[in-house]
This record gives sequence, structure tokens and C-alpha cells, in this order.
Amino acid sequence: MTSCTPVKTTCPYCGVGCGVEATRLPDGAIRIAGDAAHPANLGRLCVKGSALGDTLDLDNRLLQPQVRVDGVLQRASWDVALDKVAGGLRAIIAEHGPDAVALYVSGQLLTEDYYVANKFMKGYVGSANIDTNSRLCMSSAVAGHKRAFGEDIVPGCYEDLELADMVVLVGSNTAWCHPILFQRIARIRETRPEMKLVVIDPRRTATCELADVHLPVKPGTDVWLFNGLLCHLAREGVIDDAFVTQHSAGLDAALAAAHVDCSDPVQVAKICKVDPQALLAFYRAFAATRKVVTAFSQGVNQSSSGTDKVNSIINCHLATGRIGQPGMGPFSLTGQPNAMGGREVGGLANMLAAHLELDNPLHRDTVQTFWDSPRMAHKPGLKAVELFHAIEAGKVKAVWIIATNPLVSMPDADQVRRALAKCELVVVSDISAGSDTNAHADVLLPALGWGEKDGTVTNSERRISRQRAFLPAPGAARADWQVLCEVATRMGYAGFDFTSPQAIFDEHARLSTFRNAAETARLFNLAGLDKLDAAQYDALAPQQWPQGRVRLFGDGRFAHADGRARFVPTPPRAPRNAPDAEYPLILNTGRVRDQWHTMTRTGKAAKLSGHVAEAFIDLHPQDALLYSVREGELARISSAWGAMVARVVHGGGIARGQVFVPIHWSDANASDARVGAVVNPVVDPVSGEPEFKHTPVRIEQFRVH
Ligand code: SF4
Repeated sequence: MTSCTPVKTTCPYCGVGCGVEATRLPDGAIRIAGDAAHPANLGRLCVKGSALGDTLDLDNRLLQPQVRVDGVLQRASWDVALDKVAGGLRAIIAEHGPDAVALYVSGQLLTEDYYVANKFMKGYVGSANIDTNSRLCMSSAVAGHKRAFGEDIVPGCYEDLELADMVVLVGSNTAWCHPILFQRIARIRETRPEMKLVVIDPRRTATCELADVHLPVKPGTDVWLFNGLLCHLAREGVIDDAFVTQHSAGLDAALAAAHVDCSDPVQVAKICKVDPQALLAFYRAFAATRKVVTAFSQGVNQSSSGTDKVNSIINCHLATGRIGQPGMGPFSLTGQPNAMGGREVGGLANMLAAHLELDNPLHRDTVQTFWDSPRMAHKPGLKAVELFHAIEAGKVKAVWIIATNPLVSMPDADQVRRALAKCELVVVSDISAGSDTNAHADVLLPALGWGEKDGTVTNSERRISRQRAFLPAPGAARADWQVLCEVATRMGYAGFDFTSPQAIFDEHARLSTFRNAAETARLFNLAGLDKLDAAQYDALAPQQWPQGRVRLFGDGRFAHADGRARFVPTPPRAPRNAPDAEYPLILNTGRVRDQWHTMTRTGKAAKLSGHVAEAFIDLHPQDALLYSVREGELARISSAWGAMVARVVHGGGIARGQVFVPIHWSDANASDARVGAVVNPVVDPVSGEPEFKHTPVRIEQFRVH
């Protein structure tokens, strides 16, 4: 590690995955700059990325293992802590079976950490009870891709957003949540002002400032809107018959389902509460424009019909053959830095490594043969919300939480608190000494953070980039993969003698190309990346996988066994919980521009707090009058699940009947401002993704009793 030599690494925040150059200066300060050679950002960084150097001090860092003794967390050696974890898990498995233990991990993990965690649980413990906080942000996109394409894979790339003649952003405040991508769109519109930008979002967000059209859709009605578009495309004769006939199946059924409620645009506009003329103008523009990218994010995914929303969008692209070609296609914007890498190693409870299926015996056999593992999980595990309910019910008796703060981020977060309070063994691996979840740990394990650890991440366009260390390990902190390997070895499991992230990546890449005699060829794998030696891995430049494939499906060949894509019928359905007299408002949640998740990192950079300094409740001035709350004063929001307190603001972008609260604040960094406690724990029946965008609530003045 030479001072003043820039180290190329990757931003640890959003799924754009910008390249960063970090330089350690002689005075110890870290200079952060965008990596001009990284294709995601070409040297640019947003405010959060630029402030990374301010987040690296050791204040509030967890630096030593701790073990709870007589109810009190006490400093311990690694040997004592690891023995406690391995012994505790072994004893619970012996008494109650493998499904009595669980891991709950994170899209913050590097691919190598994720791979080892999944190998440990699925191939050695023998349970698929390993889920991830990525369940909360993109699992509906995963499920939608699998239904439509036969595999969870993103067909396009960032460049498509620049080549398109029309970009439709659905449920995405791209300007704040994927800022560099938004800057790329903004810049291209300077040279191609004819390029249209449509934003479909209940709120008038910063993203709308650049939009030609904003459709402020009623929360939860996106499926009506896109089913209506499919009907319009059929009515106007814009269906690409050749593509549909040769490369897809199921259009008639999808159209039949759409026609039930959505054939009349005026009726759709009424249901979606948008202007009928504006809706029709959007339908006409979509029909008339070949190069369209429809990019979607949490506003689509975080819904009790999230998977159907995704498929209703994909249906429109399949119907017009607009997929896998420059400047066109559906495009999932992932929230976290490595949600995509996690998916590649089977990071969700219902997946196996290498995009294989847990409920496919052939796939299970392939992975078990490759791992030479003693026992394989034979059924999907518990998804995040189910997992914490199983803990509270006493079915899961040990949970190891790695790099995430579920006491803040989960819906019905008070339920998570109850679950952890009841759990026999709670292990928490984290960089932070003060997270809300840590308070429930029986064992606390200090992890390496950004700048200290090595590995890879994959961004929203399937681009694998290196995260590289440029700082020494602080205190006793260790890499998560290393800790997982040490626990696995102490439990008597072979196959965890990895000595470096490169060795793990190598195994992961080889698994993606391995198949047993009976398994048919997979369309996509890491061929070309499966023989990297240490020096090649160290020097690995950002690159998309499959190697050399900028876009996928352009040849009309999909991953279903018959090679055809599937239209999915998406009969629309309303969000599970409707507002009523007791809870008359709809709570929507999301990010603010300059904070990340539960602020364990961004909270350290003073300049990032200059944008939004505290939690807030954004509501319409007339609703404030109606419910007797005032701008600038504290108010209490409550639902059937919990309550929170924050200051009332009138941001100007919220429609009547709705409130918006950011997700970042918690009991650890504020007071009673944990919006997760208020959010309903309803999930999408296919993906298991929670409905963060639609909880019935009421608002009232906050009074200190
Ligand atoms: Fe980091 Fe995302 Fe900003 Fe890029 S856009 S610098 S990845 S937070």
C-alpha cells in the first residue's frame, strides 16, 4: 500500500457501482475521486460518493469481538467468540435440526462473502435459511425476470439509457437514488433534447424536474397502467408479430388478463388517478417510439404486487420486441452496491449459486457435486419477513446477522425487536459499535469496512468491479468471508480453507461453468473469468458478465427450456391494506439524496447532513390543516403495527392522502423516528418483497406526556 498511489475501487453505496480512486495522502487523509476509466461513471461521483473520505474514521467502530456474559457484552478474544458461535450453532442444529438456524445477510457484502455464506448454509448446515436485505429492495425484479426470461438476468446496460429516444422511469427517484445515472440521462438530453423522459411516480420528486411528462400515479396502480399500455399496443397494431411468434409464448393470455379491467384508457386513468389525456399521450408516445427503455426501481418492487408490476412492464417490451437491442428494454435499477453479485451466488433463500434453482433436483445435485458437500438444503428457506416471524415463534433459534440493521430496515420493525429478544443465539457481524441491532447480540463480531476489504461487486448492468483495500484492518476486525470460514471449520466442515478473496472468486466462477452429466447447458455464466490467477484477479478491470455480452436476448433466445420468453398474465390487484377511517393516509417510504440506509456510514460526514438534517414527515398542506399538524412541528404517525415521531414538512411533491417518510433515521441516530416500525409487513406472494410503499397510517400532533 504505497502512499499517494491511487487505488482503484468501487463506491459502496448504490447499485450504479461507480469507480472510485482513493489516494492515501502523506498526512493520512484520504483523497477520493471518480475513476475516469470506469464505464459506469467515467470519473463522476455524486455527493455521497465524493464524501466517502469523511466516513472512514474509527469513531463508533466495532473493533473487538464481544460476548455476552451474565447479560452484559464483554470484550473477548476471537477464539472465544468463534467457539461460542460455532458451538452454539452446532448444539442447536444437533437438537433441533438445520432449519433451526439462519443467516440474515446484506447487499453490502462483497460477492466473495456472499458466496461463502451461502455455501456454508446451503451445502453444509443443510438449510436454505439464509436471506438478505436485498429481499427488501429487488426480489420482485428477480422473480419477474425469472418468470419472463427463465433466468434472473438484466438484459440491457447503462448506455441504453443514453441511446433511447424515450426513457420511462417508474417508481424511481433516479435523481436522488441513482444520481450518476440520472446525470448521464441529463447530459445526453443536452445534446439530444428530442429524447423524451417520462416519470411515473406518486410523488413529484427531483427526478420530475427534467421530465417531459410526470404521471403521478395513485400508489399501487402501476399494473393497471401497464396493462392498459399493453391493450393500447394491441389495439394500435404495434405488436411485433414476428418477434412474438418466434421468440415468446403467452401473449394471448396476458392480453386477456389485461383486457378485463384495462382496455379503456379513460377507465385506467380514473383508477390510476392521472389525467386521461396525459396517459393517452404517454401510450401513443410509447407505441410510436421504437427505442424505449423502461427503468424501474423500488416503487415497483416494494409492493404486494411487485412481481406482477415488473412483468406488466416486461410484457410491453416483449410485445414490441424491444429488448436486448441498443437503446431499448426493461431495466431494473438495483438499490444496493452488490445486490446483483449476491444474486449470482444464490444470495436469496429461494436460490442456489450460479443462478441455479433450489427446488430443481438436478440443480441441487450439480451444486452438491461441485461442492462435494455432505448435505444440501432441499427446499427454499425462509424469506426475510417469514424468517423473523419464525424466530419469534421459536422455530428458528439462532440467527447470524451480517452487515445489516434489521431492527431499523425491516417492516414491522418492533416485531424484529421481539423476535431477537426471544432468540436463543443472536450473532451480529458489523462495522458499527452502535447499531440498533447490536443491542440484541449475544456475540458481536467486528467486520472490515469499505476501504479495508477486498473482493468484487456487480452493478445494475452486470458489471463486475473490484473493491480494493487501501487502509489497514482496524483493531481486530476481520473480513466476513474469513470469519464464516473459521466458524465453518470449527463446526467440522471441509471446503472452507480459502486463503484469499481470489480463491473464493475462482471457485464461484468455476461453479458457474460446471455442470453434471444430466444438466443442460446454462445460457449465462462467468466463462473467461474462471481461470484468473492472483495477479489477474488483483488487476481485474470492470467488466460485464457474461464476458463480451453488453446486451442479452437480442438474438431472441431466452433461458426457458424452449428458448422462448414468457408473457405473464397480470390481473391487477389493489395493495393488501387499504386506508380507512382509522388510518386514512398512505405512507410511502424511501431515501433522501445524501444519506444511505441507516446512516452508519453517511451519518459521519457532516456535509451530507446539510441536505436533510433530520427525519421528516412530508405531507400536503391541506392534509396538515385537516389533521391539525403544523409545518416545522413534531407529529406522530401511527399504523396498526407501530408509531414514529418526526417533524412535519411540506416538500411540495406529495399528493393529498399520502405522506412520505425517509428510511434512514432510527432510535440510534434520532429519537422514535424508525419508520420501519410503522410499515406493514405485507409481502408480495411471489417474491416475498415487503410493501414499503403502501401502509395505511394516521397523523396527529406529538405531545410529550
Ligand atoms: Fe456511489 Fe451511487 Fe453516487 Fe455512484 S451514484 S457515487 S455508486 S452513491
